[in-house]
Amino acid sequence: MRIELAKSAGFCFGVRRALAMVEENIKQMKKPIRMYGHLVHNEEVVKKLAAKGIEVIDTLKGIYQGTLIITAHGISPKIKEELVKRKKLDLIDATCPKVLNVHRLAKRLREENRQVLIFGDPGHKEVLGIKGAAGNKAVVFSSYKELKKIDISQKIKYGLVAQTTKEYQKFKELEKKIRRRISDIKIFNTICETSREKQSEARRLAKKYDVVLVIGSRLSANTTRLYEICSKINSNTYFINTAEELKKEWFKNKASVGVTAGASTPDWVIDKAVERALEY
Ligand code: SF4
Repeated sequence: MRIELAKSAGFCFGVRRALAMVEENIKQMKKPIRMYGHLVHNEEVVKKLAAKGIEVIDTLKGIYQGTLIITAHGISPKIKEELVKRKKLDLIDATCPKVLNVHRLAKRLREENRQVLIFGDPGHKEVLGIKGAAGNKAVVFSSYKELKKIDISQKIKYGLVAQTTKEYQKFKELEKKIRRRISDIKIFNTICETSREKQSEARRLAKKYDVVLVIGSRLSANTTRLYEICSKINSNTYFINTAEELKKEWFKNKASVGVTAGASTPDWVIDKAVERALEY
């Protein structure tokens, strides 16, 4: 069996940075240590952090002491401001600098009195943070179909940013359509380099190999994106979280496998899956 592992598979810069910030500082952190949402959307990483005493929380109510970790996805600047005021609480802000850049651009659009549009998954943590930076009137949509339902006035100015992990090609298509529909719009393509690279490599693997494995958590937006891209091209695409989910029959009469993994999938999870696939 021939296997090619995508060069871009696994942790991205933002996730490595966030994990390093937590791991390097954990001994000095004031207890209890809490994390607002998952540092990355990967159950394996979360289990490891839990073993180190980090509790994942989904509300900030009543959190006034100890240490609070803000994840790579970021948080609304207003909420952060409010947290900073909690004097007995130490904040570890692991927001990816690329996400912070989207906040900066969204804020700039708002300050230019533009109605901000966000191409992203509604309810996703990163999107909620961007929305906070853009002013809560910002409108989130995840497809052109959804955007078409939004009332557009030619009397106002618009601005567009994207969640960093949205599909690059879809954004390019959307950009063309939006420019035809809205006369005054400033567009920032904020899909990060890593996401673009991963998506284009996934596309190449899906065209070249008999079977494609996409490894990562089903909670991860960027891994789901890779699966969507590959499965549209190659019907033998499988989404797995760990090696244990692999099935021997997927590889029957198949000669080659392309493997990719989301930005929050650890190397050890990828290595195990590749080893297991090689046995089939
Ligand atoms: S996918 Fe891009 S923006 Fe998101 S954490 Fe990774 S490097 Fe940062």
